[in-house]
Amino acid sequence: MTDAVSSQAFRRWKDNRSHSVGFGGGHKTGQSRKSERRPDFRGTPQEACFEPSFRVEPSTGPLFQGPWHAGPAKFQMRVNGPLKIARIHEMKFSFPVTCACGETFLVQVTGTKFPKSAQCLRCNTAIWLVEPLGNVVGMAILGRAASEMKSGDWTLAIVLAAMAVECDLVFLFMKWNRIDLMLVRNPTHADDEGWEKQWRDSVRTIGDRFEKVSGLLTGQPFDSFLSQNAELLKNMYLRYPASKSAASLKYFFVKEFFYKRNRIVHFGKIDYQHPDAEMCFTLGSTLWQILAAMDAHRRRALEAKHSIGTQGP
Ligand SMILES: [Zn+2]
Repeated sequence: MTDAVSSQAFRRWKDNRSHSVGFGGGHKTGQSRKSERRPDFRGTPQEACFEPSFRVEPSTGPLFQGPWHAGPAKFQMRVNGPLKIARIHEMKFSFPVTCACGETFLVQVTGTKFPKSAQCLRCNTAIWLVEPLGNVVGMAILGRAASEMKSGDWTLAIVLAAMAVECDLVFLFMKWNRIDLMLVRNPTHADDEGWEKQWRDSVRTIGDRFEKVSGLLTGQPFDSFLSQNAELLKNMYLRYPASKSAASLKYFFVKEFFYKRNRIVHFGKIDYQHPDAEMCFTLGSTLWQILAAMDAHRRRALEAKHSIGTQGP
């Protein structure tokens, strides 16, 4: 494998990724976008597009007429002025931005349109925003979990935090399988399906998924990687000292976080309280950072192997 080939593969993955992680779909039908300016908004009109999520309008397409055969019955149907959805649903989420003055506030995002700047709510400083690279959907779900923490929906915060981690696990599994294959050839739709089937059928439990991703990205078991990267666990150890004495951190995450998620999703338990949600959100954020560290570990290994000077997350 030459350096040039692996470098190309990495770049190709980055290019493809920018298309594949998109959500919402934008304005494929070319209809004009209806903007509604929020009263408190001081940015450009384009950034102010938060509502509505869709509208319907009469189709200008052809009318359909003719006999349809359904078994022995024969009937006619004329479709007059069918409605079509003119605007595609877009994901809405927010992410926290911290200003130099110490103020942290949430910036709203709709679809894939990241605002270029944000204004500090305390000191009014304009802050330039760099569009995040990585698992944008997972970030959106984690951001929504943070919003639910603020609004006091403890049960939903737990479900969303768990979903964000699961989303990141499969994102990294797909990402690195694709990059590895790109060193040889371009992945096909069948490759994607094969990996998805493997994830669905062979790596079913959350504990197995931690191991699968840790093995793929670091070549080590999950707990071994953590024992060598203890700085990732500082905040969790501080807030939940029981985690420090856990024999297996993997099992600690599964038991204290994912079992709670399962009790909600499988058994309808919906009366979790603030301390439960706070612990789950802390564990979810810690796992998010662990996965980011594993991703960085894998990238450094790729760079070292092929001496690629890549930059990025
Ligand atoms: Zn500020």
